[in-house]
Amino acid sequence: MADVDFDFRTSHENGAARLGWFRTPHGTVETPEFMPVGTHGIVRGIAMDEVAAAGAQMVLSNAYHLYLRPGDRTIRALGGLHAFTRWTGPMLTDSGGFQVFSLPNHNAVREEGISFKSHLDGTMHDYTPESVIRIQRNLGADVIMQLDELLPAGASIDASRAAMERSLRWLERCRAAHERITREGRDPIADLAAPPGAPALATQDPANANAPAQALFPIVQGGTHPELRRASAAGILERGDWSGIAIGGLSVGETKTDMHATLELCDAALPRTLPRYLMGVGFPDDLVEGMRRGVDLFDCVAPTRLGRDGTLFTPDGKTQIKNTSNRTDRGPIVADCTCPGCTKYDRAYLRHLFVAREDLGLRLLALHNVTYLLQVMRDARAALRAGTFTAWSDAWLARYRAADDDA
Ligand SMILES: [Zn+2]
Repeated sequence: MADVDFDFRTSHENGAARLGWFRTPHGTVETPEFMPVGTHGIVRGIAMDEVAAAGAQMVLSNAYHLYLRPGDRTIRALGGLHAFTRWTGPMLTDSGGFQVFSLPNHNAVREEGISFKSHLDGTMHDYTPESVIRIQRNLGADVIMQLDELLPAGASIDASRAAMERSLRWLERCRAAHERITREGRDPIADLAAPPGAPALATQDPANANAPAQALFPIVQGGTHPELRRASAAGILERGDWSGIAIGGLSVGETKTDMHATLELCDAALPRTLPRYLMGVGFPDDLVEGMRRGVDLFDCVAPTRLGRDGTLFTPDGKTQIKNTSNRTDRGPIVADCTCPGCTKYDRAYLRHLFVAREDLGLRLLALHNVTYLLQVMRDARAALRAGTFTAWSDAWLARYRAADDDA
């Protein structure tokens, strides 16, 4: 049975897109929405209050990085990920599988799980469906993800089928581990009490042994093979009553045409009563294309990573802050953007900070991209509410693509 602490309602629909509300123990997210990624429990260079001021409703953290450093048990002893990071709103952790499969030296994938060598110190670790649930239970995000087997784009249909079927078996083990910890509580560990006068913490679970309510999301896999995606979605729906379902294995090198076709197939195969989370997709045009195909939640490191590289999102496509034309430009990056970089500084100063590799500049550029994506999502929700989403998204895409440097 789906967890009673989670709920999803929709009100307005335009084509496949919908306006909705995803309720979690740490608050309700109005969807569709983009989740900034806090890899190490921080959206790189940006404080959580700045992330909130940018309009973010929900953030994502990476279980792999936090498991290795400072350790999920340490974070739990410090009050859990919400208290540790001072993020009070809804939060999601990925399983860490994506990072492990991305390591150049991850060892053989076995039915039991994956062995890998830490990128920090070379020590060997095992990821199993049970251990990723235990790790994510210790971290304490609202939404946690199953362990799944990932393949690079272009994998053969046989390899894709084997990985998809293994992901379903791993989902069963994740669900069993999730239910067991929910029923029996977590292994006891000592809480590290805060001394008088310590900084105020975000919400935290007072009874440390009790696992906070968490929703486990399964992940639809199957590459760009329609029959495998359908089988994956059907297998997931047979295996539980979920609070939400993720779509994985996209934005890994496939064509946009294949990505869109896969999203349309998933839209048809998944119940419209559940939120759909498209993993690792976060370029502005991909968000709009995803919403048009019924996606409710997105995450991606692209806005921060590109921002720190000097690539900025604008309504007229991506642009480079280092362009010579910005040397003497007194205007903002985007005229109506509410981010600190756009409201306080001009392109000339931001370009100077970027060229000088000043931390402030890199931070401001990343924060601009995050703010801009969240604004796109707000605009999309307003259009959904007004019943004009389809026309809005047509016009938005046409303008973005008319000038984008690689559209
Ligand atoms: Zn801005």
